[in-house]
Amino acid sequence: MEKVVIGKCDTYDVKRLKEFFYKGFREIDFNIRSHARVLLKPNLLSGKPPEKAVNTHPLFVKAFAEILLDHSCDVYIGDSPGYESTEKALNNSGIMDIVKSNGLKVSSFKHKIIKKIDGISPYKEFVLGEDPAHYDTIINLPKLKTHAMMGMTLGVKNTFGFIHALEKARWHLRAGKDRMIFASILIDIHNIVRPSITVLDGILGMDGDGPSNGRARSLGVVAMSNNAFILDYCVEKLVGIPSPLPVSIKAMGYDLIEDYEVVDFGIPAIDSFRIPGTMDTDWALPKCVKGILRNLLVKKPKLKKGMCKGCNICMNVCPAGAISSPEKVLLFDYTKCIRCYCCQEMCPEGAIRV
Ligand code: SF4
Ligand code: SF4
Repeated sequence: MEKVVIGKCDTYDVKRLKEFFYKGFREIDFNIRSHARVLLKPNLLSGKPPEKAVNTHPLFVKAFAEILLDHSCDVYIGDSPGYESTEKALNNSGIMDIVKSNGLKVSSFKHKIIKKIDGISPYKEFVLGEDPAHYDTIINLPKLKTHAMMGMTLGVKNTFGFIHALEKARWHLRAGKDRMIFASILIDIHNIVRPSITVLDGILGMDGDGPSNGRARSLGVVAMSNNAFILDYCVEKLVGIPSPLPVSIKAMGYDLIEDYEVVDFGIPAIDSFRIPGTMDTDWALPKCVKGILRNLLVKKPKLKKGMCKGCNICMNVCPAGAISSPEKVLLFDYTKCIRCYCCQEMCPEGAIRV
């Protein structure tokens, strides 16, 4: 039976994290092979500092990296951030200090690797920025955060970072406003990447309007499993999401979440977790009504007055071409907008609300 370790951990003290990780490995039967070539895949959405809770905390990465180095592994780290280079995001997030001090190697996720899969989404081919097959082991290190489109970003969503930067928008566009299609795409990509273990950094997490500009909150939780579908489902319940999110619903429908056991390392109580404002709109409605009223029901991205710095990042990441700036005033075309909220996710100023 699959196991998920969930426990209280309210510090980024590396020694205590390593103790927690080793204890968890024993429970879920995870073994590190000496001299293996290993890729650490943190959440590296953008070059924001650790206190913003946008990325996996540098010391969380350091603790795992030290364990691998203790086993003489060849350790790489990488991700495909939203709009910056991997190196810039590593620098500004504080993770590059860990890379340098521990002698890790950076994978820039700049390749174009075509992977075919007969999965659960309508699509059979994905272009990745890095080839998972280059590594003996992939370690998935997500952050516990809310996500405007999908409700939360946890273990399964974290592997979407393998998608080549320019391809990400294309997948949003293909899924359109349909969260369940996007969930099936996320699941297919996760199944291509197949991380050996997922270890979730929820010590300092994010609620509210994540994944970039929500509220950083001390949640004091770490979760670990060989099965990210089960881990995500358990964490959704832990933070009080009232019903399963799209990725979990899809995973259940394809028997990816079956019998499991939760190993309790002192599970903390999490109160008043704020879900994104986009998630409380349309779940209870019949499908036919949702289709008709979607443009009215699903929240629109809007500009917060006086906060826009005119960097145009939102225009460049919008997969639908729904943002323009005639006369330097940002305009949204809601007939084109597919409500992916990439603009809100990527705006470095937090100038877009939903
Ligand atoms: S809304 Fe944000 S991303 Fe868009 S132009 Fe303004 S500051 Fe840049
Ligand atoms: S305007 Fe924002 S929410 Fe709408 S399609 Fe573009 S990026 Fe997505």
